[in-house]
Amino acid sequence: MRVLGIESSCDETAVAIVNEKRERIVELVLSQLKEHRPFGGVVPEIAARSHLTQLDRLIGQALEQAGLAANDIDAIAATAGPGLIGGVLVGVTMGKAMALALGRPFLAINHLEGHALSARLDPGVGFPFLLLLVSGGHCQLLRVDGVGRYRRLGTTVDDAAGEAFDKGAKLLGLGYPGGPAIEQAARRAAEAGLDPKRYGLPRPMLGRPGCDFSFSGLKTALRQRAEELAVEGRLPERERDGLALALQEAIAAVLADRTANALDLVAATGGGLTALVVAGGVAANGRIRQALDEVARAKGLPLVAPPLGLCTDNAAMIAWAGIERLQSGQAHADGDGLDFAARPRWPLDPTAPRAAGAGV
Ligand code: ATP
Ligand code: MG
Ligand code: FE
Repeated sequence: MRVLGIESSCDETAVAIVNEKRERIVELVLSQLKEHRPFGGVVPEIAARSHLTQLDRLIGQALEQAGLAANDIDAIAATAGPGLIGGVLVGVTMGKAMALALGRPFLAINHLEGHALSARLDPGVGFPFLLLLVSGGHCQLLRVDGVGRYRRLGTTVDDAAGEAFDKGAKLLGLGYPGGPAIEQAARRAAEAGLDPKRYGLPRPMLGRPGCDFSFSGLKTALRQRAEELAVEGRLPERERDGLALALQEAIAAVLADRTANALDLVAATGGGLTALVVAGGVAANGRIRQALDEVARAKGLPLVAPPLGLCTDNAAMIAWAGIERLQSGQAHADGDGLDFAARPRWPLDPTAPRAAGAGV
């Protein structure tokens, strides 16, 4: 079974072909970084237009690289939400048109389910697992019992972890996207022997019961420290890198603390987990992986994390979620594929209350 996946919910136009043996036959990701960089963040209208311009060509290129004809594809899976609706519509419309023309099923995939199941594609992990989903728009802890079976244990009450990296980087003048820039600056600071504690950044929620997150206070504190340390209105590079290290340490500590609470909560209610899984763009961060690895070990579980290219947005995870849906007899998350309307908002656990802030 070969499934063609389409991802267009944010600022990556991506196409991949994956089979049920977990082979990634082709994976293409076209980043719109250059188009959005002058604005310091993703501009939805620019993103939608760029997907519209690129997607058709990218699908042709994927088939060509795979040496396959469109007819060799058994199903089309596209991100149908949540995300920037203009881009999502481009992918969904293209996917439906292809499916209809080829007489194959169309699978409307939840982008978050793509992230959630990415570690089952590579390196592979069995159910149930505890998932820390940390991305540009989400920061959640979920117990994952199977395909389509997600129970949210915690979420952010304000910013997502990726947002904290992105806003922090912007504030420090490190550019966009923030995560990789902060990680690099933090590495320089660590190599220079700077002590992150020196900056006194808060660690919101740390030590409190429960599994929720908060990051907005961190951003405010970061702005204050940056202003205090500025010399004639400019933040010296050394202090900038030191603050990046302090920010990364604070985020890693908070993620680790909340995840430990969630693991305890699950253990107290029956346990049985196979692993702690981390997924989403922020899972690409080496320091965060290390902090989570320590937490998992302390609780006697392995940490399972996908390779970096499967953490940030990609289409292989969307194709794979399509395969998992087909294999578990849940081809359509809701309704029939072709009549599924694109959704700007689409929580993985619809029974969980809506959070006050960015997280759903
Ligand atoms: P969502 O999946 O919630 O809809 P998204 O698709 O925009 O949001 P992803 O592509 O999964 O998010 O992740 C992007 C985020 O990951 C950005 O906030 C980016 O800064 C962050 N990120 C990427 N690489 C790293 C890294 N090395 N360290 C920390 N953060 C990172
Ligand atoms: Mg992106
Ligand atoms: Fe994402």
